[in-house]
Amino acid sequence: MIKIRAFGGYNKIGKSMTAIDVDGDIVITDMGADIEKLVNFEGDKNYISINDTAALIENAVIPDDRDFFEKEEGRVKAIVLTHGHLDHVWAVPFLSQKYKCPIIATPFTIKVLEHLMRNLKLRPARFLSLNTGTKYRVSDNVTVELVNITHSIPNSAVAAIHTKYGVVLYTNDWKLDDNPTLGRKPDYERLTQLSKDGIKTIILDSTNSDQEGYTFSESVVRTMLEDVIKRTLSNKTIFISTFSSHIARIKNIVEISRKLNRNVMVFGRSMDMYIKAAVNNNIIDKNLIPEVATRREQVNGLLKYAKDRPGKYVILCTGHQGERGAFLDKLVTGQYAYKLSSEDAVIFSSRTIPTPLNIANRSMLQSALESYNVNIADNVHVSGHASRNDIKTFLKMLKPEHIIPSHGGMEKLSGTIDIGKELGYELNKSSHMLLDGQEISFN
Ligand SMILES: [Zn+2]
Repeated sequence: MIKIRAFGGYNKIGKSMTAIDVDGDIVITDMGADIEKLVNFEGDKNYISINDTAALIENAVIPDDRDFFEKEEGRVKAIVLTHGHLDHVWAVPFLSQKYKCPIIATPFTIKVLEHLMRNLKLRPARFLSLNTGTKYRVSDNVTVELVNITHSIPNSAVAAIHTKYGVVLYTNDWKLDDNPTLGRKPDYERLTQLSKDGIKTIILDSTNSDQEGYTFSESVVRTMLEDVIKRTLSNKTIFISTFSSHIARIKNIVEISRKLNRNVMVFGRSMDMYIKAAVNNNIIDKNLIPEVATRREQVNGLLKYAKDRPGKYVILCTGHQGERGAFLDKLVTGQYAYKLSSEDAVIFSSRTIPTPLNIANRSMLQSALESYNVNIADNVHVSGHASRNDIKTFLKMLKPEHIIPSHGGMEKLSGTIDIGKELGYELNKSSHMLLDGQEISFN
C-alpha cells in the first residue's frame, strides 16, 4: 500500500514537505520554510541557530514532524529534495539530521544546503548527490529517480518514487520551457517512458493553476530585458533586481549588459550564496560574474565609482520584493552613500509575490523610488510555474491514475482539480484534495 501524508505546502505555498510510505518504507519529499513566517520570525534577530528548532516549529516557520518522528523514525529511508528554493529546502538543517538517512538531491541543491548548514555552524549532512536521469535504490520497496525539469533555479528535478504499485511522481515545482537559457529542457523522453510504465499518482504543482494559457519561456524574458535596457537612456545608471536563485536570469542580465557596453556590479548576500553554488557546480563560468560585494564599505566604494561614470553600469541587486535589509531597501533609506536621482533607472525583473507583507513593502519601495524621480520598469519577468494549458499538456503526457494538487491553497488546488475534471478525472475517485496534516492511501 502507498500512503501519502501532507505536512506542508498544500494549504498555502511554503513549508513544502510530504511523506510517501510504501509498504512501511518512507521517503520524505522536500523540507521547506514558510518564507513569510520566516521573515516575521527573523524580525530583528540577526542570527537563527539550530537551538531555535522548536520555536521555528511552534511558529509554523517549518513543518511540524514531531509526532511523526516519534512514531516513524526508523522507517524513514530517504529525504528527497527537488530543487534549491528555500520554501522546499530551508528546514533541512533543522529537521533532517535526526532521521539518519541519506538526503538525495541534485548537485546544485546540495551546494545551496551546504551553504545554509555552514551558516548554522553545522557539520555537512549525509548528502547523496544524484544527477537527473539516474536512480538510487533506497530499500527493497522503493527506488528514487530524479528527472530533469525546468523551473526558475538550476538543476531542478521531479522525483519519481518507483514502487511495485506504480510510480509516485512528485512535481514541485516546474514549468515546461522548451527554450531554456541555461540547462536542458524537460526530459520528455523519460517522462513519457514513466507514463508507459504506469504512474499511480502525481503530486502536482498548482501555483499557476488559476492562470490561463501557457507560461512563456525564459528566452522571452531575455528578449524583454535586452529591449528594456536598450530603451533606458544611455546616461542612466541601471539597477536591476531579480530572484537571487534565478541563475539563468542573472546570467542573461550580465551577458546582455556587456553586449550593450555596460559593466556589471552585483550586490546582496543571497546573490552571493546562489552565484557561488552555481560557479562551484560549473553551471556558470567563474569569470562571467564579478565578485558579489556584501560589505558596506565595499558597496559604497563601488557605488561611488558607478555614480562617477553615468551610463556605464548595470547594478544587479537584491530587494525586488521591497524586503527590509535587502539592497534596494537600504539604498532608498539612505543606508548607502549614494543619492538616487532622475539619472537612475530601476528594473524589476520580478513580480511581487502577493503576500500582505510583500505588497506593503513593495509599495513603500515604489513610493520612495518615485520620490527620487527614478525611472522604473516593473514586471520584466515570466513565472517559473506552469499555467493551465501546461498543466493539461503535462497530465495528457503522463496519464497518471490519480491526481493530488499541491503548492497552493484551496483556490489553487481547486484550479488543478478543475483541469483534471476537463480531462476526465473525478473528484474523490481519481483526483483528491489533500490538505496539510491529511493522509491518503492507494493500493
Ligand atoms: Zn520553486
